[in-house]
Amino acid sequence: MSFKSNYSNSQIGYARMSQITPEKRNAKSQCRCGGKTVFFRAYNGESLCANCFNDSIFDKVKKTISKYDMLHYRDKLGVAISGGKDSTSLLYILSHVMKGHGSELFALTIDEGIEGYREESLKNAETLCKDLQIPLLVCSYNEFFGFSLDQALEERTKRSIKATSCAFCGPLRRRSIDFAAEKLGVNVVATAHNLDDVLQTFYINLYSGDAERIRWLDPSYRTAQSEFRLRRIKPVMEIYEEELAFFAYLNKLPFQSESCPYMNEGIRTEIRLHLNELERKHPGMKYSTLKTILTISSSMAVDETTRKKVTSCEVCGSVSTGSVCSVCKTLKLVS
Ligand SMILES: [Zn+2]
Ligand SMILES: [Zn+2]
Repeated sequence: MSFKSNYSNSQIGYARMSQITPEKRNAKSQCRCGGKTVFFRAYNGESLCANCFNDSIFDKVKKTISKYDMLHYRDKLGVAISGGKDSTSLLYILSHVMKGHGSELFALTIDEGIEGYREESLKNAETLCKDLQIPLLVCSYNEFFGFSLDQALEERTKRSIKATSCAFCGPLRRRSIDFAAEKLGVNVVATAHNLDDVLQTFYINLYSGDAERIRWLDPSYRTAQSEFRLRRIKPVMEIYEEELAFFAYLNKLPFQSESCPYMNEGIRTEIRLHLNELERKHPGMKYSTLKTILTISSSMAVDETTRKKVTSCEVCGSVSTGSVCSVCKTLKLVS
């Protein structure tokens, strides 16, 4: 395989943070197999060589897929990739663990229309898919909604609408993935939400009083609801973001070196920094928080007394928790 490396200094610095450093007191210089340690997993004290690190990631993803019954024989799976480190790693991991599984693998990518940002990630997505021999479908907001994200956010500013960029983009992105999946004819879509993403989403919903969305964090929820035609799975939801970044770096995967220019507007960044600080002081804290979140969301999912009926959006007919879905609300703001 011939991936061209195109890392910025900050990315290499970020990946190296995960590598063994002298202050990581319990790290050993040798992996249990005798190889040279490249990664120290603070939460369980493992010192891992490159091969054992990769194998541990493959094993963990396989376990997550099987624990939550994410994939079935003959599924047609679309992997949503953005060109960033998480989705790039996800596609590579799935292409490895699904060998001989009997499912078909496709990639889909959504061009939101962010000038000067998307071009690099689209190129990376194409390179990766070509190398892995996975068919790629590229769709855009323009194609589905008739405007780019840049244009939508310009309208937001003009009309002084109080909503963060992510609040605008999120629903449109999810709906675009649904449309692209339909176009591809896949019945399952995998997204690269990692352990850190799940934790951040939980806290955002907790702080904003949105208990219904906490229920949605249960990996079995969508499978149990017949209203959802498309099964959405998160095969790397039990992997730390830091480990996915290191995986991409270690395997020299081509990924986007810049973050989205509209990032940092939401509370997500604050929560992320806070959780990273806690994890640094108390290794394993993120992992145990995930376990608690999954216990809460799964008990909500089966508790009929608190079950709020999922309805259809009166504008577009999609599954919605209110009378109008979040996509139609967003579209109305900019139309
Ligand atoms: Zn080893
Ligand atoms: Zn709608």
